[in-house]
Amino acid sequence: MNAKSLAINREEKELKKVSVAEGLTVGKLRRGLETGRVVIPRNAKRIEDTENRDFVLKAIGERTSTKVNVNVGASKDYANLEGEVEKAKIAVKYGADTIMDLSTGGNLDEIRRTILKEVDVPVGTVPIYQAALEKAGGRAVVDMSPDDMFNAVRKQAKDGIDFVTIHAGVNQNSLERLRRSERILDVVSRGGAFLVAWMIHNEQENPFYKEYDYLLEIAKEYDLTLSLGDGMRPGCISDASDRVKYMETIVLGELVKQAREEGVQAMIEGPGHVPLDEIEASVKTIKHITDFAPLYLLGPLVTDVAPGYDHFVSAIGGAVAGLYGADFLCMVSPSEHLALPSVSDIKEGTIVTKIAAHTADLVKEGQRERARYWDDEMAHARKNLDWKRQLEIAINSEEARRIRNSRPSESDACSICGDLCAIKMVKEFLKRE
Ligand code: SF4
Repeated sequence: MNAKSLAINREEKELKKVSVAEGLTVGKLRRGLETGRVVIPRNAKRIEDTENRDFVLKAIGERTSTKVNVNVGASKDYANLEGEVEKAKIAVKYGADTIMDLSTGGNLDEIRRTILKEVDVPVGTVPIYQAALEKAGGRAVVDMSPDDMFNAVRKQAKDGIDFVTIHAGVNQNSLERLRRSERILDVVSRGGAFLVAWMIHNEQENPFYKEYDYLLEIAKEYDLTLSLGDGMRPGCISDASDRVKYMETIVLGELVKQAREEGVQAMIEGPGHVPLDEIEASVKTIKHITDFAPLYLLGPLVTDVAPGYDHFVSAIGGAVAGLYGADFLCMVSPSEHLALPSVSDIKEGTIVTKIAAHTADLVKEGQRERARYWDDEMAHARKNLDWKRQLEIAINSEEARRIRNSRPSESDACSICGDLCAIKMVKEFLKRE
């Protein structure tokens, strides 16, 4: 199956639905899929599993609305299936477009399969976690065999996972750049760290890079979308934009090309921690090197000093990255760098990331008009002091309503200015039609 036939198959069943959701013509969407600049992650098995359900397809990439992924997943310290499912559901309720199950504790198969059953949006994973954990209880990741790694991908694809993060760009070349670098935080990607440790210990090339053809075969078999992970992503402001990162990006660009030639959908993961003035160069360079593959950003976080508030730190970076072409933002929760997120952390992180995504859509080609329609509706409701409408269309109506009702005004304005409401006063005197 090549990229073109993949798009045609989707047109018959799904393309129309997605084009309506995106406000794009079917032709534009099809063109995006054919060139690989747009992906619609959906495992072939999930097409069957969700036949009688309202599965929400998501297009990610050029001209499509900026999407938000939310990571959930149990850890060894907090291995609670119900809790992780609740997080996945709350994330979808507050606007997550996709969910990733990053579990490294509990019964990994059960958690993954339950999340697949419980949410009707695309679900992704990082299969090397399972390969490492099942091999040696998470301790001796270096004892994994290449077969363990590929078998984990196949097993999860068989379950219906829609997209997988694979750190195939961590190879001997990028490892050599890492050794020569003066990074403060060498590797902060968990999957990247597993592979770096494995490669050094076993004195071998990364199997996902060396046998990438085999990975593509598995992906083709299940219509699995590859999210080519940035195992060498910078983990602090000082490490941003170094040679290690760009060495890996060059490799990822080559791997995207190969995937497209085999009709496998692929997107690229990006950094990480990036100061504001380097985001434009970072996004544009990654986009050009990877021939405009959909770009999935983990942040970027624009400062290192705000643990507890990293959802805001990330949303600032995500909005700026969206302005320059990022397509897909990974939610960062208030507990980033501190602890496994709670349900309320997931809710807060999701809403804040949705705000960043919407601000990007306000300036994104293909989405600008639709996004602005929403803002204009709010502006008109404000002008008319139409509180009902303002609360209805707020990005989080519950919270807006709670605040409004907590400190009401005796006037028909709000309790900030009351009768001195500027909007009301000028409307009265200006007498515009
Ligand atoms: S009272 Fe003040 S803050 Fe409230 S709507 Fe009017 S101008 Fe805005």
